[in-house]
Amino acid sequence: MDRNLLCGLVDEKQDIFAEISDKIWEYAEPAFYEKKSMEVQVQCLEKEGFQVSKNIADIPTAFKASYGSGKPVIAFLGEYDALPMLSQKADSTVKEELAEAGFGHGCGHHLLGTGSMQAAVAVKDYMEKTKLRGTVVYFGCPAEEGEAGKAFMVKEHAFEGCDICLTWHPFSFNVCSMSSLANARIRYTFTGVSSHAATSPHLGRSALDAVELMNVGCNYLREHIPPDCRIHYAITNTGGTAPNVIPAKAEVLYAIRAPKMSDTAELCRRVNKVARGAAEMTETEVETDIHCAYADLIQNKALNRLVYQNMNDFEILYTHEEYEYARRFRAMSDENEIARTKALAAGFIGEKAEEAFSSPIANFVIPPVNIKQGSNDVGDVSQCIPTACFSAVCYAMGTSPHSWQAVAQGKSSLAHKGMFFAARVLAATAIQIMEEPRLAEDARADFIKTMAGKTYESLIPKGIKPAILRG
Ligand SMILES: [Zn+2]
Repeated sequence: MDRNLLCGLVDEKQDIFAEISDKIWEYAEPAFYEKKSMEVQVQCLEKEGFQVSKNIADIPTAFKASYGSGKPVIAFLGEYDALPMLSQKADSTVKEELAEAGFGHGCGHHLLGTGSMQAAVAVKDYMEKTKLRGTVVYFGCPAEEGEAGKAFMVKEHAFEGCDICLTWHPFSFNVCSMSSLANARIRYTFTGVSSHAATSPHLGRSALDAVELMNVGCNYLREHIPPDCRIHYAITNTGGTAPNVIPAKAEVLYAIRAPKMSDTAELCRRVNKVARGAAEMTETEVETDIHCAYADLIQNKALNRLVYQNMNDFEILYTHEEYEYARRFRAMSDENEIARTKALAAGFIGEKAEEAFSSPIANFVIPPVNIKQGSNDVGDVSQCIPTACFSAVCYAMGTSPHSWQAVAQGKSSLAHKGMFFAARVLAATAIQIMEEPRLAEDARADFIKTMAGKTYESLIPKGIKPAILRG
């Protein structure tokens, strides 16, 4: 691969992609409603000569853009959904909303989608210059946050025909391989009987009591679940605000996580029993709805090796101003959180951790690790196609994902540099695979070995549609 040629091609168009990323940051559209964010990407890709198909898996904000023909087919995955209650003025080190209770890009998906798209365009440009053969695809994937958009796209076979999927995530560390937990989100709706709480309490059956008893039951269950599983809940409907009215309806949303899909399914079975027990105790009815689910991310050693090499080969140079900028945000970080991450990183980068963590920007690469923390719908893709997902530094060290501080840094040159770096790593990895078909075969062989005969089956039951199509 001609690394200089690739770098030149990425650099040439970087202003275009910085502008697109900033626009998507400003649109800050919620999951499944990323219309403007999708359009700005579609326009760019059409102009670049990609063939665009919209409405993938019937989802209005999912699309696919392809260039070239034949094997290998290398796909980049992009996202563009924002998070609620995170509207924030850019670059400000104090919390300042732009729109009251508005959305904001607290997970950097404006960078994620744009960087993946930038990689697709760079690969296309490289193919044109060198007559390299193959197909490069960009998937615009909506609703990663809380809705598992890609899991629904997988169910509709959107990624079929792809040989390799590559993606990344903005973060405050460069980590070569991201891992994630499987996660099922289940809504429990209890229905009871309303009555006046003072005049006829004996005639009422409280749905809120059922929710509370279910939560108590699950808090007892916690002691008897494997240590790396997680159960969280939010009461999404308390049934009203009047204490003198017995609530007839109440709802609680659970997120149930485990390292593997099979463990998650088993844990869901136990939580469902607790819900039924709560309904039994309160003489209410319970309806169980798997709202969406995420699979755990399957690591691919062959792809991780390529990505790790490329992450080390493309250096990022920061200016004095960027270090100063990062220092202001680093000063606001939670020291306990930094100490926790430092202890974790020391396991991988050894004594370099001390020096590395004294800088406000984490300018080093953490090798392939398998620490499962959050959940990500890239997991569902990785269970079907050899996939790699790394993270790149877009924020000051210590910046938490899903925070207003992350939103504030989203249009900075620090964020743009992380995105350009990700685009180079993604594009270089794709080009290497196109140039050497053996690399795709290695990735496939590793995938088959890891899956050990298991085939992917989503935790989302058949017939369940994405929230946007449920009416
Ligand atoms: Zn994210």
